[in-house]
Amino acid sequence: MTNLDLIERDLEVLWHPCTQMKDHEQLPPIPIRSGRGVWLEDFDGKRYLDAISSWWVNLFGHNNPHINAALRDQLERLEHVMLAGFTHEPALQLAERLVQISPAGLTRCFYADNGSSAVEVALKMSYHYWRNVGKPRKTRFIGLENGYHGETLGALAAGSVPLYRQIYAPLLMDVITVPSPDAFNREAGESWADCAHRRFAKMEEALARHGDEVCGVIIEPLVQCAGGMRMYDPVYLNLLRDACERHGVHLIADEIAVGFGRTGTLFACEQAGISPDFLCLAKGLTGGYLPLSAVLTTEAVYAAFYDDYANLNAFLHSHSYTGNPLGCRAALATLDLFERDDVLGRNLRLAEAMRNATAHFAEHSHIAEVRQTGMILAVELVKDKAAREPYPWQERRGLIVYRHALKRGVLLRPLGNVLYFMPPYVITPDEIELLAEVALEGIQLATAE
Ligand SMILES: *Cc1c(COP(=O)(O)O)cnc(C)c1O
Repeated sequence: MTNLDLIERDLEVLWHPCTQMKDHEQLPPIPIRSGRGVWLEDFDGKRYLDAISSWWVNLFGHNNPHINAALRDQLERLEHVMLAGFTHEPALQLAERLVQISPAGLTRCFYADNGSSAVEVALKMSYHYWRNVGKPRKTRFIGLENGYHGETLGALAAGSVPLYRQIYAPLLMDVITVPSPDAFNREAGESWADCAHRRFAKMEEALARHGDEVCGVIIEPLVQCAGGMRMYDPVYLNLLRDACERHGVHLIADEIAVGFGRTGTLFACEQAGISPDFLCLAKGLTGGYLPLSAVLTTEAVYAAFYDDYANLNAFLHSHSYTGNPLGCRAALATLDLFERDDVLGRNLRLAEAMRNATAHFAEHSHIAEVRQTGMILAVELVKDKAAREPYPWQERRGLIVYRHALKRGVLLRPLGNVLYFMPPYVITPDEIELLAEVALEGIQLATAE
C-alpha cells in the first residue's frame, strides 16, 4: 500500500477535524503507517519529526515501550467496565496518584473522556455546587479573551478564540470575557509581571461587578495555547486565586494542554504556588495514547453533593467510557515515566536547547517575538515588526511554513501566524537543531513577500 492508495480512499469517506476539506485538493492528508519516538512514518517510507506532539498530547514518544507493555497487560485483564456502581484498579490507582501529585487541596477525581468534556464537567460541577449550597443566582462564568477550552458547546462558550467560536455564538451561553494578561500585548518597557498586574484590574472589576452571579473563572494557566501560544506571568494566577477567594467564586484551571510538564513544572499552577478549585486534565494525561480526562476538585465541592438520594443533589453526569481501564492504565504508565526518570530536569536542558537553537530568530525582520514557557516555544510572524502589525489571516503565511516543513520531514502546524515547537520530551538536542533550521527556512519562504 502506498500513500496514494490511502489518500484516495480517505477522501471518499473521511471528514477531517478542524479542516476545510477543499484544502485537501492542494495538500492531501498524509497517511501514517507507524511511529517511533518523535518520528512518524508514512506509507511511502518518508519520516516526519512530530514537533507538536500530535496536537500536544504525546509526551514520551510514539510507540513507547513502557506504555505499550502496560496496555498489553491491561488488555489481557479488562478492557472496560462501567464506572457507575463498579470500580477497577487502574481508575482508583490513577485517582490516588493524581490526587497525590496535583496541587494541595485537590482530593477528588472525576473522570471524563476528552478535554472538552472535562471542561463541561468542571462548569457543571461549579454551577451545581453553588446551587447545592443555596446560591442559585450564580449561573455565569468569567473567561479570558483569547482563551480556549474545547469545542463542545459549553467549552466553546467559555473560550473566546473567534475562529472557533464566532459562527456558533447564537448557540452559546453568555460568558463574561475579560482582557487577557497576554504579555505579547504589553506596553513598551513593561515587564510580563507589570502587564499581568495591569490587566488584572479588569478581572477585579468584573468580579466586583458580577461576583454574586458568577460561579467560576476559567483560565488556561500561563499559556493560552490554541489562542496562539500567548504567555503570561504567573503572578496573574496569584492575583486571581486571591480575588476568587474574596468574591466567593471558583477558580477553574484548564491544564489540559499545559499540564504534565509542558511549562517546566508538572502543573503550571505550581509556578504561582496556587491550588485551583477545579483542575482539568486531558491530552498528555495518557501520554498521547488514549482519550481520557479528569477533573480534580476539593473536598468542599465533593461534600456539597454528598446527600440523601431523594434530595437530588447528586452529580448525575456520565460518559459511557468514563474512567476506561485502558486509558487509566496508559496514564499510570505515563506517570511511571515521570517517576522513573528525571523528566522535568531533562526538560530544563531541552528547553534551553530550544532557546539556543532559536536565539537568532529574534533578529528576523518579520519575527515580532520568540517567547517560551518551558517546553513550549513560539515564534510570532508579523508583517511590520515595528508596528507589530500582523499578516492578514487570509494570506495564510503559516500554511507556507507547514508545507515547507512537511517537505523537509518535520511536522509543524502553525496557529495562524504563530509557529511553535511543543515536542515530545524524548526529542534530542540534534533534532531540536533540525527543527529550528527547518522552521527558519519555512519562515524565510513565508515572509519573502
Ligand atoms: C485541547 C484543549 C481542550 C479540549 O480538549 P479536547 O480533548 O480536544 O476536547 C480544552 N482546553 C485546552 C486548554 C486545550 O488545549
